[in-house]
Formats: sequence, C-alpha cells, structure tokens
Amino acid sequence: IWITLEGGDGAGKTTQAAALESWFAESGRTVVRTREPGGTEVGTLVREIVLHHRGDIAPRAEALLYAADRAHHVETLVRPALARGEVVIQDRYLDSSVAYQGAGRVLDADEVRRISLWAADGALPDLTVLLDLDPAEARARLDADDKPFDRLEAEKAAFHERVRRAFLDLAAAEPDRFLVVDASRPAPEISADIRARVARALDA
Ligand code: C5P
Ligand code: MG
Repeated sequence: IWITLEGGDGAGKTTQAAALESWFAESGRTVVRTREPGGTEVGTLVREIVLHHRGDIAPRAEALLYAADRAHHVETLVRPALARGEVVIQDRYLDSSVAYQGAGRVLDADEVRRISLWAADGALPDLTVLLDLDPAEARARLDADDKPFDRLEAEKAAFHERVRRAFLDLAAAEPDRFLVVDASRPAPEISADIRARVARALDA
C-alpha cells in the first residue's frame, strides 16, 4: 500500500508519518518511509537546488525540477518497494506540486498536474492524507517549536492561503483517494482517524 501525506508546513506530516510507520511495523510489515523532494540520492541534490534557489528560479524550471525528482523517486524507490509488497509512507507527492508550483505561484495548476503525472508515469497513491490546518496556526506551532516556517520565510500569508485552498480543492475532486483531517486536533486523535481509514483500505 502506498500512502502519501500532504499539507502545509507545520501541519504535522512528519509526526503522522512516524506514527503510521510504527503502527505498520508493529503488525510486522516492512515500511519504506520517504519524501519528496529528496527521497533518493539524486533527489537530495534536486532538493538542494529547489530549496536553496527558491524565489530566484524560473517557475517552469522549478516545476520541472520537482517533476524530475518525482520521476526518479517513483521509478527507483516507490515502485520497486510496492512490487516487493512493502508499505510506502511518503511525505508529499504530486499534490504538493499542484498546490505550490501551481496555485501557489504563477503556473497553471492543470499543467503542473499533467507534468507531474507524466513524470510519475501515472502512478497515484492508494491513499492521500491531507492534514488541513490554518497557516497562521501552523506558523504559531512552528514558532513554538523553534522551527522555521517555510524555511526561507519568503512567502506571504496569502500564498499559504492559496496553497491550503488548492489542497482542499484537490481533495474534493478525488474523494476516494483523499482523507482530509482537521490537523488542529491532538496528534493521537489524528493518528486514530488515519489508522481507521488505512485499515479500511487494507480490507478492501
Ligand atoms: O515538507 P518539506 O520539508 O519537504 O518541504 C520543503 C519546502 O518546500 C516546504 O517549505 C514547501 O513549502 C516547499 N515545497 C514546494 N513545492 C513542492 C514541495 C515542497 O514549494 N512541490
Ligand atoms: Mg515536514
């Protein structure tokens, strides 16, 4: 089973990915925990470029770099793991590209989605968990933990609002693939909701 986690910075993707990983591991499943950008050695290099040059990279170039990372990641890591029957838990996937490179910036969201799908050779996860959180609350949480919000701090509040909206629109368009959770609740409650949905997906 392939599960992706989506949502803005500070929504709790890493916390929930870790909880899900332990849950699967307890049941004896082999879990591959990975992320985009940066899930592979090549991806680590791409991640350096996109994060280091955010703001001064041409938007189409940025979208293609994310797509390149994705193409390599899906082909060399995700598909082989799934073929071995392993569980893949992934922090961000193509919905992040549609939300950030598409709605967040200047590119057409449908075009970004098409490029991403081409890069991934059409691969879509069995389940995408959207951790939905007001960006102001996310920022407050990260500040409290002394973690940087959106690393470069370059983006404005309106940008994060657009990203949030885009994620919610994506979820509404594909209700079978998405589980939307209110990420303002305590982490254990969120984990329980995610586990319930995953259990259903495993039974299906
Ligand atoms: O969550 P992660 O640490 O991987 O995100 C790194 C940064 O890259 C985030 O701040 C996010 O805003 C940005 N990002 C992006 N477009 C993507 C994925 C991540 O702008 N497709
Ligand atoms: Mg994170």
